[in-house]
Amino acid sequence: MISALLPNYARADLAFERGEGAWLWTVDGRRFLDFGSGIATASLGHAHPHLVKAIAEQAAKVMHTSNLYRIPQAERLARRLVDVTFADSVFFCNSGAEANEGMIKMMRRATSDAGKPERYRVICFEGAFHGRTLATLAATGNPHYLEGFGPVVDGFDHVPFNNMNAVRDAIGPQTCGIIVEPVQGEGGIRPADLQFLRDLRAVCDEYDIILGMDEVQSGMGRSGKLFAHEWSGIAPDIMSSAKGIGGGFPLGAVLATERYAKALKPGTHGTTFGGNPLACAAGNAVLDVMLEPGFLEDVERKGRVLRGELDAVARDFPSVFAEVRGLGLLLGLKCVVPQGQVQAACVAEGLLALTAGDNVLRLAPPLVVTDSDIAEGVALLRRAAAKVAAAASSKAAAQ
Ligand SMILES: *Cc1c(COP(=O)(O)O)cnc(C)c1O
Repeated sequence: MISALLPNYARADLAFERGEGAWLWTVDGRRFLDFGSGIATASLGHAHPHLVKAIAEQAAKVMHTSNLYRIPQAERLARRLVDVTFADSVFFCNSGAEANEGMIKMMRRATSDAGKPERYRVICFEGAFHGRTLATLAATGNPHYLEGFGPVVDGFDHVPFNNMNAVRDAIGPQTCGIIVEPVQGEGGIRPADLQFLRDLRAVCDEYDIILGMDEVQSGMGRSGKLFAHEWSGIAPDIMSSAKGIGGGFPLGAVLATERYAKALKPGTHGTTFGGNPLACAAGNAVLDVMLEPGFLEDVERKGRVLRGELDAVARDFPSVFAEVRGLGLLLGLKCVVPQGQVQAACVAEGLLALTAGDNVLRLAPPLVVTDSDIAEGVALLRRAAAKVAAAASSKAAAQ
């Protein structure tokens, strides 16, 4: 008989009761070091006092009023995001997929409003992940995720990542924009070349098409900058954010320049929950921490430390890992053995890690991870790698 909770996930048999910083405790008292952050989402770790206080205080006042009324918490969060990014205006929603839906609608509507309704197609990249709604699945383009869900939403063209010739070839009279992840997360922690991002900006300017970025995973401090595209020196026209922006509270956002943001006038788009007082209190608390002087620099420093350690682990266990890649605290170890086997070995040692496409073990510790947490995580990873390597060599010897 089907479980009461719909079994659409292959869940590990672990249930957590509480957390603190980068650590989680199961209901039966086991302790785990969390280098997954609930899929790069618990950006401030678990039970961060400032975030907990902000949510508790707001919940005790008013959680939800709807977008029929002004929401001061949302006005403040939007103003602060505008002040620290390329954007002039922000739409709040509840998830990454919803943010990307908003971005796609904004691209199409702005182009239509400019007198070019025939231009509705968006260029996306092989290995992308943009969400699980029908349009964002079409943007994702992974045939495995699309199978059995009926006609694919029209209007998305896929080209190889980091390949400017392919992008130029794909631009046609129906193209309205491009959507790129500055670091492909689910696709296997594949960073876009900085020059590729600059070339995308240039080609969008050349053809007057819209540059959209999906920073749902790469953004909100994860790369060591507030948003990963900042490393390239160029800015998108529209950008989606989610995951880390609420520190674990569901919150998403579409950030855009005025030219495109103004397309979503009253009646064109909306959401019931999006940007409610509780979610925006969480978002403001996350920003309070991330915008503290030195916070992002420290993320970058810790990312370099972890990267250096991972490079050493990969060198020491060439039968397990092929290479390390990523940016800041979004790092991937391309595996030689199946990545799930390494992940399971990590869990057995008390380390929670994620997987990603391209046979990658993905590490995304909370941005508040300490140096000693990093040292401990690397030690646990080494122990896991040693066991995987030993198992692999005894299997090879038996053959
Ligand atoms: C997770 C993710 C999404 C989807 O976010 P949801 O909140 O699961 O809808 C979209 N884009 C990227 C890059 C992501 O990592």
